[in-house]
Amino acid sequence: MILDIVLFGDPILRKKCRPIEEITEEIKQLALHMIETIDKKNGIGLAAPQVGHDIRMFVLRKYIDRPDGSWGVSEPRVYINPVLHTPSDQLWVFPEKCLSLPGISGVPVTRPHSIIIEATDLFGKKFVEEDEGHNARVLMHENDHLNGVLHIDRTDEKSKHKIEGELAALKKKYLQSKKK
Ligand SMILES: [Zn+2]
Repeated sequence: MILDIVLFGDPILRKKCRPIEEITEEIKQLALHMIETIDKKNGIGLAAPQVGHDIRMFVLRKYIDRPDGSWGVSEPRVYINPVLHTPSDQLWVFPEKCLSLPGISGVPVTRPHSIIIEATDLFGKKFVEEDEGHNARVLMHENDHLNGVLHIDRTDEKSKHKIEGELAALKKKYLQSKKK
């Protein structure tokens, strides 16, 4: 099932999401639908609040560099109650976009180059991963969603200023959709 993406302006995107205490059938279904949704929308990651659930879960596919220089994506992965720690001192900047902010140009976001994540998978098994580069960036972007933080909060003032008009238009669109 393809889920509707919650758009910028909706207060759920600013909520601190709550931990998942039990991995119920509903949560498993939601995770599968979220994976279907990113594949359909050509996204790489999606957090539960982006589909209207204020719980600590996100899904993503990792980037895989192939030996011939091209890249692909991994099997989908589900992260429940993730905890990120030990960010690298080394930082890097890259433009980010978000499915909840369609049409907004990518804005540069500075993030650590690598990070360690501990989380639980759909079967209730705890795992630890170290990620770097784009994969670390996607993890941090999705994890931010669970705390009500958007990538646009982390960009520089000049870039924020540049997208002010586009953001206002998105917000207006959201408010109008609520009136109907
Ligand atoms: Zn996002």
